[in-house]
Amino acid sequence: MSYRRAGRSGLDLPALSLGLWHNFGSSRSLDSQRAIVRRAFDLGITHIDLANNYGPPYGAAEETFGRLVASDLAPFRDELVVSTKAGYDMWPGPYGDGGSRKYLLSSLDQSLGRMGLDYVDIFYHHRPDPSTPLEETMGALATAVRQGKALYVGVSNYDPAQTRRAAEVLDGLGVPLLIHQPSYSMFNRTVEEGLLDAIDETGIGSIVFSPLSQGLLTDRYLGGDVPSDSRAATSRFLSEERISDTYLERARGLAAIAAERGQTLAQLALTWVLRRDTVTSALIGASSVAQLEQNVAALEAPALTADELARIDEFAVH
Ligand code: NDP
Repeated sequence: MSYRRAGRSGLDLPALSLGLWHNFGSSRSLDSQRAIVRRAFDLGITHIDLANNYGPPYGAAEETFGRLVASDLAPFRDELVVSTKAGYDMWPGPYGDGGSRKYLLSSLDQSLGRMGLDYVDIFYHHRPDPSTPLEETMGALATAVRQGKALYVGVSNYDPAQTRRAAEVLDGLGVPLLIHQPSYSMFNRTVEEGLLDAIDETGIGSIVFSPLSQGLLTDRYLGGDVPSDSRAATSRFLSEERISDTYLERARGLAAIAAERGQTLAQLALTWVLRRDTVTSALIGASSVAQLEQNVAALEAPALTADELARIDEFAVH
């Protein structure tokens, strides 16, 4: 594993981090979940990303992770960077969603309880909440740090202006913004329209989620079918309609470039997001140990040439 510094902080993150959004809820066996997390750690993936509502049901991924902490990871707590988030709907009523101090701090306590941890390394506001003053939301993150319940703080899904402002407010509170967590892949390049510049200018790190576009940038669907155990078949977050002719043309075009480089499509997709220094880590999901191992092997690949980048642009969405 290679490690990259998160912005101007002192924290290194692995080039590939593992997220437990899917595959770590109550519908999967603990044995398969345990195998993936143990293999990830053995491969040098020292960062595991969670959120209060990962599952299903909500909270289940943190509970699963808590079991794995108890059975396997507790002796290695100081070798791990664990993150969680609050910001999307989590529990009924007005205090289980949004960006209030009330929601964030009680959610963090619940997350720590589910994971059996005293603190998380990174606590994020999961998405912007324009109905709450940013000072209140950032104040809650700063309080989490002062309480010793989080070592660092981050934001996710914030636009460039919101990111700059969040960094400014947190600086004023003496708690620097460590990192931004945006979506970035060959199929979603929105961050190239200003967010990566904002991240550079503010000196924060970035960890990009869904770099494989939830599996679309892998060989999962290249045959045109939707495997019954795939995310497109089983999750409400990826619809089967995404496996369209346009998709297949793009994905197969990219897979051909990958093959010329001796890579799989998934590996090319990871090499591509990690080509930028502004990207500290690519945050992947995996439903098997084999997927994880294939993805980590992407780090062995040579850098992309200007010619390859130009050819990728023909198929990658702008
Ligand atoms: P990816 O884009 O890496 O998609 C992961 C999925 O791709 C896997 O579940 C698997 O699908 C498939 N896959 C992975 N590797 C391979 C491979 N080598 N060959 C074939 N298929 C493969 O990321 P996710 O969408 O899972 O997101 C990663 C993490 O990012 C999340 O767990 C979460 O921590 C974070 N995230 C944050 C968000 C935010 O708002 N902050 C939003 C979304 C994600 P299959 O299950 O079909 O096998």
